[in-house]
Amino acid sequence: MSETSTKDLEKEILEKIQTCIRCRMCVKMCPTYEGWFTQSSAGRLAAINLRLRYDLGDDEELSRLLYDCATCRRCQERCKMFSTNATPTDIILKTRQWLANKEKERRET
Ligand code: SF4
Ligand code: SF4
Repeated sequence: MSETSTKDLEKEILEKIQTCIRCRMCVKMCPTYEGWFTQSSAGRLAAINLRLRYDLGDDEELSRLLYDCATCRRCQERCKMFSTNATPTDIILKTRQWLANKEKERRET
């Protein structure tokens, strides 16, 4: 995957993430949530935002958080119930793709 497509993905993720209104209504119903915010959908979005927008954290930690997601889409259904346009599961999946692209580019250089 080219540098441009990784950058395009990054732009798309950062645009989509702004649709999350941070209501946290998805936190406790996330099946992977065991008390830590980052084990929830809203927490995963916050971690993505910190990594992509502010270059905080690292790819390995973000990858662990995102691959712990069961992709059940319950959070995304919850967003719809509250009439937000947020698509957290799609954002998580896109960010997995972004991480995979970066890793591929790293191996090729
Ligand atoms: S992902 Fe949806 S339900 Fe969760 S905090 Fe964002 S807007 Fe609210
Ligand atoms: S799709 Fe992932 S983040 Fe969303 S509720 Fe399911 S496990 Fe949690």
